[in-house]
Amino acid sequence: MTCSYSTVTVSSMHYLLNNILDSRIIILPQHIANKIAAGEVVNRPESAVKELLENSIDAEADRITLIIKDAGKSLMQVTDNGSGMSEEDARLCFHRHSTSKIRNAEDLDNITTLGFRGEALSSIAAVSQMEMKTRTKDESVGTQIRIEGTEVKEITKVACEKGTSVTVKNLFFNTPARRNFLKSNQTEFRHIYDTFVRIAISHPDIAFEFINQDDKLFTLESSAIQERIKNLFTEEFFDSLLPIQFENSLIKLTGYISKPGFTKKTRQEQFFYLNKRFFRNNSLNFAVYSGYDDLIEKGDYPSFIISIETDPSKVDVNIHPSKLEVRFEDEGMIFGLIKSSIKKSLSENRLIFDIGFDEQKGERKGAESGGEKFKFDLKGDYISKQTTSLKQDVIEKELSRETEDEANIFELPGLQETIFEHKKKPEEEKFNVWQFQKKYIICETEVGLMLIDQHAAHERILYEKAQKWLQSKSGFSQQLIIPIKIELSKIDYMLIKELTEELQSLGFNFNLKENDEVEITGIPPEIKVGEEQTILKDLIEQYKEYGKELQIEKKDNLAKSFACRGAVKTGDLLQKEEMIKLIDNLFSCEMPYVCPHGRPTIVRINTEELDKRFQRL
Ligand code: ADP
Ligand code: MG
Repeated sequence: MTCSYSTVTVSSMHYLLNNILDSRIIILPQHIANKIAAGEVVNRPESAVKELLENSIDAEADRITLIIKDAGKSLMQVTDNGSGMSEEDARLCFHRHSTSKIRNAEDLDNITTLGFRGEALSSIAAVSQMEMKTRTKDESVGTQIRIEGTEVKEITKVACEKGTSVTVKNLFFNTPARRNFLKSNQTEFRHIYDTFVRIAISHPDIAFEFINQDDKLFTLESSAIQERIKNLFTEEFFDSLLPIQFENSLIKLTGYISKPGFTKKTRQEQFFYLNKRFFRNNSLNFAVYSGYDDLIEKGDYPSFIISIETDPSKVDVNIHPSKLEVRFEDEGMIFGLIKSSIKKSLSENRLIFDIGFDEQKGERKGAESGGEKFKFDLKGDYISKQTTSLKQDVIEKELSRETEDEANIFELPGLQETIFEHKKKPEEEKFNVWQFQKKYIICETEVGLMLIDQHAAHERILYEKAQKWLQSKSGFSQQLIIPIKIELSKIDYMLIKELTEELQSLGFNFNLKENDEVEITGIPPEIKVGEEQTILKDLIEQYKEYGKELQIEKKDNLAKSFACRGAVKTGDLLQKEEMIKLIDNLFSCEMPYVCPHGRPTIVRINTEELDKRFQRL
């Protein structure tokens, strides 16, 4: 071989390598390489739609239309009013690694656009029949370019709007194997739909239109995020969310999470965004769940839309070709922030269920409220600690909200902290409480009435106590004068044996006897008189049931079972002092507003609401 490598052209290199040297290895021609590369970027119509929508966003469009036919298999078209391209750029953009978004390796560490690889258009073009019309604001005529499997078939000048319109026909027409791999139209459509929703959520300032088989699925005007969520989902869905927010010099976290009690059985509505890019991350999912603590059951999934904004240099988006994953420099910090922001939002919004009467349906409407800062004072009143200006603020916001949703006449979810103050000696005389149908406690407060579910409230109290005892192994036991012997089934006996240490932490003292008998010598002091005989058996029963239904961890199951079986029940008569103690204990809890299963413990009716009902206002 006489020629030097520096003078060898690519085609002569192909020739040399593929023929003269008779090598087994060849360098693939461009069109085949493109087809293969296309597989990484475009694996179904949805990925093409995603890339095209992202290109329009990167081109700073504020109006984007998506049209699809046959779930994108026969047609996908994305039209935008963005920057458009000159003829030269229009020719270049279909080449592999052609991009206007990065210039050098350093830029890779500071990606501010959704795309940057310069692979999308070349990949889509390699496996479809593609047409593009584009015009920049400085040109009077636009460029039309027709491409088929990377081959430019036609370039002409056309009259067109400023912006770009890309039409992709017959995806995978030249890769039949891939085409055969496509799923039913229903499935492929679902993927496109999900992608559209993901993108539309994170760009509420952009107007979108989505047309499927000539049907207008969505017409979304540029709006605030709240409106966007309502338009993409439903108003009810938006009402079931609580806002979250956190900001420091490094990171901004905003979004919405489900109120407990509005969780779903699927992970359908879970959206994480990093600098407006949708991503998935199991560990951060877990951060969300752990923010809820025991407010949601295992197997229930909260919906959330959580947007993280941070310096692009702190994250790596260059992991996966379809870019659904991102890597954070300090994931632990993000984990902690998400968790604590959720906790904060849940506690600030206090999760008190207000009574609401839906005018049309005459039904109770469970709307959470919060808002005032108050302290619980055993004189029997909530004392509003809010300043006049804050109150005014709340009222103003409330008024503006009322116009949006007239049926929603209740307080605004507040952002203040709740402070409870407990007095050692209740002044019972001044404390107005009544028991209603041996089920609810009615209690007068400064701002209205509070209805408390006696069982749910006591369950919450016992649950938190049990958790502490199990943690610290410190539960008290009240010795029985005469020990109680109970006979158990073999399986229950074995279970009690296995749980001996935990049961003792809860305050159960017992001896394991022969013949599957247990001799109880001490019980937790919380147990109601007369229930000593059955409580341990009941608890074990419940433990087994929860174990099956909820698949919860041992200690949590015990705490829940103990709370459920040890709590006062519907039908139990309560004395005034007992009710006062119960209310006092409830408000000493960390999460007073829901029972361990996520049901509300308290419903409130404002005096204002009553005044409205009686037409005093
Ligand atoms: P990337 O988005 O990674 O840069 P693409 O293959 O998706 O790569 O696009 C290549 C280039 O074509 C982009 O960098 C951009 O300059 C240009 N481009 C693509 N779509 C549009 C559009 N809708 N409007 C304006 N320019 C576009
Ligand atoms: Mg792109």
